[in-house]
Amino acid sequence: MARVNDHYLELKSSYLFSDIAKRVQAFGDANPGARLIRLGIGDVTRPLPAAVIRALHDAADEMGRAETFKGYGPETGYPFLAEQIATHDYGARGVNVAPDEIFISDGAKSDTANIQEIFAPDCVVALTDPVYPVYVDSNVMAGRAGRADQAGRYDRLVYLPCTEDNGFSPALPGRPVDLIYLCYPNNPTGAVLTRESLGAWVDYARRHQAVLLYDAAYEAYIRDPDVPHSIFEIEGAREVAIEFRSFSKTAGFTGTRCAFAVVPKELMGRSATGAPVSLHALWFRRQSTKFNGVPYPIQKAAAAVYTPDGQKQVREAIDFYMENARIIRDGLVAVGLTVYGGRNAPYLWVKTPPGLGSWQLFDKLLNEAHVVGTPGAGFGPSGEGYLRLTAFGQRAKTVEAIERIKTRLKL
Ligand code: PLP
Repeated sequence: MARVNDHYLELKSSYLFSDIAKRVQAFGDANPGARLIRLGIGDVTRPLPAAVIRALHDAADEMGRAETFKGYGPETGYPFLAEQIATHDYGARGVNVAPDEIFISDGAKSDTANIQEIFAPDCVVALTDPVYPVYVDSNVMAGRAGRADQAGRYDRLVYLPCTEDNGFSPALPGRPVDLIYLCYPNNPTGAVLTRESLGAWVDYARRHQAVLLYDAAYEAYIRDPDVPHSIFEIEGAREVAIEFRSFSKTAGFTGTRCAFAVVPKELMGRSATGAPVSLHALWFRRQSTKFNGVPYPIQKAAAAVYTPDGQKQVREAIDFYMENARIIRDGLVAVGLTVYGGRNAPYLWVKTPPGLGSWQLFDKLLNEAHVVGTPGAGFGPSGEGYLRLTAFGQRAKTVEAIERIKTRLKL
């Protein structure tokens, strides 16, 4: 028998979504007539924008004609898309990112999971608690996390608690770290970082020669004009940060798959002897060895997001979700709950009432209002005492869920 990668055996099974499924199933069996509304999902519900659909059709036609057929494309993406990204996502905000610093991919999930491969196994990793679980698990698989304790904390990871007390903005690590995962706007708390807080992270990374792995998958939901959309809006960030973005939540591409990572050319790691090594060159090598690019029609579809029609349609979808967020927020506040997030992010982080844990509020919502959320404890120990709701639902269902919470929830 072939020996397996033992590190995989250190993974904690994710009981979160299977536990939710079991409780929902049990509830459904006991209440066959009940109509459940799911406000826990992290997937979009609006269809793709019309401009994107048109581009998909046109690109499919191109693939059907010998003169315009495309085989393998560049592993890091077509310049026509990278140029649009550089111009619209960065240039328009006064940020200088060259098209060849943009690596187009099939998802921010794969990028944030794979990026750790270009770093040494003994790098010390810091991440927020609560957290998007992919950052943790990909480092566990690589043997960088150590062993988990009863509470599910790995002994070699440095956890940065994000709590009500620190406004869900983590303190700088108390010990030297090499890699720091930051996700803003945040999943699950819906928090954003101010320019000053982001600046403190960039300073920290520069002082300690750490690398910031900045996941900006929800950048399009930022409303507050003072909140930075990109880590590269902060001076000096090009020497210490990699940014991840996605068309998933921006333009409804969760099932279509297109994203990108920005790795600046100035960004260096070091070899065992201390010599500087370009992380851009390593990521290029990694992607060109293990990835063969995003399909041409999908990249054409992503480029259509930047057309005037595409921009307008994308804005409408985001406005739609943010109106859902407002409806949820106002409704929950009206029944006396404390709610964070939902202003610059599609996630609402609901504080459980005194005496109730994450799972107890989950059960209460399910049993009394027939609404499904996600217990905050599932995202890490500091998520205990919270429940995550999302603004990605259909309008009528969102409105009805809030109405039920208002009229049926016994708080
Ligand atoms: N990053 C964060 C923080 C997410 O919440 C998600 C999806 O839920 C992703 C990345 C995944 O994005 P993609 O669909 O591009 O893989």
